[in-house]
Amino acid sequence: MALQQIYRSKYQKDNTNLMSYVKNQILEVNIIDMSENGEGIGKVDGYTLFVKDALIGDRVKVGLTKVKKNYAFARVVEIINPSDYRIEPPCAYHKQCGGCQIMAMSYDAQLKYKENKVKNDLVRIGGFDKEFIESISEPIIGMDNPYRYRNKAQYPIGLSRDGEIIAGFYAGRTHSIIANTNCYLGVEENKQILERVILFMNENGIIPYDEKTGRGTVRHVLIRKGFTTGEIMVCIVINADSLKASEYLVDMLKDIPEMTSICININKKNTNVILGDKCKTLWGEDTISDYIGDVKFKISPLSFFQVNPVQTKKLYEKAMEYAGSDGSLSGKNVWDLYCGIGTISLFLARKAAHVTGVEIIPQAIEDAKENARINSIDNADFYAGAAEELAPKLLAGDGYKKSVPDVVVVDPPRKGCDESLLSTILSVKPEKVVYVSCDPATLSRDLKILCESGEYKLNKVCPVDQFPNSIHVETVVLMSKVK
Ligand code: SAH
Repeated sequence: MALQQIYRSKYQKDNTNLMSYVKNQILEVNIIDMSENGEGIGKVDGYTLFVKDALIGDRVKVGLTKVKKNYAFARVVEIINPSDYRIEPPCAYHKQCGGCQIMAMSYDAQLKYKENKVKNDLVRIGGFDKEFIESISEPIIGMDNPYRYRNKAQYPIGLSRDGEIIAGFYAGRTHSIIANTNCYLGVEENKQILERVILFMNENGIIPYDEKTGRGTVRHVLIRKGFTTGEIMVCIVINADSLKASEYLVDMLKDIPEMTSICININKKNTNVILGDKCKTLWGEDTISDYIGDVKFKISPLSFFQVNPVQTKKLYEKAMEYAGSDGSLSGKNVWDLYCGIGTISLFLARKAAHVTGVEIIPQAIEDAKENARINSIDNADFYAGAAEELAPKLLAGDGYKKSVPDVVVVDPPRKGCDESLLSTILSVKPEKVVYVSCDPATLSRDLKILCESGEYKLNKVCPVDQFPNSIHVETVVLMSKVK
């Protein structure tokens, strides 16, 4: 069963209500839970409502927006009794934007919500005993300041209704832009940079790209900042091969403190993908650098790099602790599957005998090799390919340097690990498996497979809040081989 259905079915089983409901009907409901999409969940006589912008603990009057047989979607018409967890969110646009689904929840409550979500999934989907999960769970690792943590911002540029050039965000699921240059998750500098880019466009007669007609030039502004180095990169994404009057743009931006790189990215395709393949540097460096812990990374406009470096460091430190940073990694052979640009691999390589990183995107593997080189790390190999396909080949030495792991780290995307990869892991039986997950539901599904085999036991679970104000939660888990 798809995980979405598992979630929905949780609330549909006890549906005994035979009333019929209609769109726009007004109901009153207590919000008792939150969905995986951040909607508040309430029940009216057993009929489930998913309510946008409602929080656990609210009593709300809602209007039904979409009615299904067993459940409905709804929006808040009036908050009758606000939840104790409600705060005044700093961003006035949080409802329209949808990027911060739970910004109206106090940060302590957000952390509790995420901690519980992980535990509940492990019990409900993973089939683990509730008390056992309580006994092995570590407290969630949160942020001191849950705002301004993103090192990367991508603002669409467009025209307002009255023809002014604006930078902002797409409203809801549409492509109409709401002007806002001050996202509270981004760095303070974004606002000044965007204002200068808009001034440059106005002064030089440069118009925003219009995706309906395919005309116009500037599509997006990408801004990146190295949190440790302070270095800033501005990249203007354009629907052309060059940017008219770009020397004026450089003049307007280069005196911003810590400006390191000003570049353009060429994207002439009629697509939702923000960046094209080609970049040209207008001024300064081609890349900026940043550190996570003491590992240095070079970041181009196209590079993947974790967006919350402060929490990423804590996440990797936890993954390292579980893998054996106390010295037990020394002499060990480690696999880092789904390695991206090799971030975890490079941490591991400092402590282990050898690390093999596997990642499906060839460019990320090129970056991983370059990152190993600039950090003088020579005990790591990186291969491009699907983890589930390469793992058996590494074991057999079939076309690759033969490698049998003592420790396996996996950090898959939201859909989790391929089942055949889990089978390969079960056939090799490494001493430890460290699972870094961005979706507790697929994590729970995969842990169930590994632990129900009888080969592995779950030792530790630690959620990490990589994305405050959103519903997402990252989790690090340690499993060890049953002796
Ligand atoms: N460990 C990295 C990246 C984790 S994100 C870091 O911390 O930065 C998950 C990564 O898995 C992405 O880079 C994605 O491209 C990659 N990926 C997705 N499917 C894959 C597969 N089947 N095999 C290997 N890598 C895959």
